[in-house]
Amino acid sequence: MSFSLPKLPYKFSDLEPYIDTQTMEIHYTKHHQAYIDNLNKAIEGLTQFDGKAAEDILKNVENAPSELKQTIINNGGGHVNHTLYWNIMSPLMEENAPQGKFKEALDGTFGDKEKFWEAFKTKAMGVFGSGWAFLVLNKDNKLEISRQSFQNSPLLKGNVPLMGIDVWEHAYYLKYQNRKAEYIEAWKNIINWNEISAIFEKAILIP
Ligand code: MN
Repeated sequence: MSFSLPKLPYKFSDLEPYIDTQTMEIHYTKHHQAYIDNLNKAIEGLTQFDGKAAEDILKNVENAPSELKQTIINNGGGHVNHTLYWNIMSPLMEENAPQGKFKEALDGTFGDKEKFWEAFKTKAMGVFGSGWAFLVLNKDNKLEISRQSFQNSPLLKGNVPLMGIDVWEHAYYLKYQNRKAEYIEAWKNIINWNEISAIFEKAILIP
């Protein structure tokens, strides 16, 4: 089985002015595509991964030959992380807020959405070098903010990623240059809380 780019749920220009069109286009067609190409190359001929979702390949990466493990972690993570990133962003919507069980969990864990955001932003700012900040559902079924270097997926540690911000420079440098805080603050405007609520509802059903 070989992986391909997931369909983007909006146009490259739809996240303007928060994320510029050129960044979106390069990020999706070049960076994400490269992770996919390298993942496909790495798993070619590995029958243990036949028909498996990329998430399952990452969760079972110990079944890969040792010389391919890191390549699969880097590129499988790159594929899964970026797929989540595209899906949990959205052009401005009228009805867009944490819902249902997700809202309960978010408020119960962090106080409210604004307090969560402050903690998430701090975590994202604290990523040194290339990496991500994620909101995850951990193994105890609790919400947790997690920082990851490179393309390491929270799945590697048994945590389910619910939302994630890419803080590699390629995600923001064309528009924001060194102003990472400005990118993170702008990103807040395009978070798709409806989708994150739906991802949470699915995640809590996984045993
Ligand atoms: Mn990226």
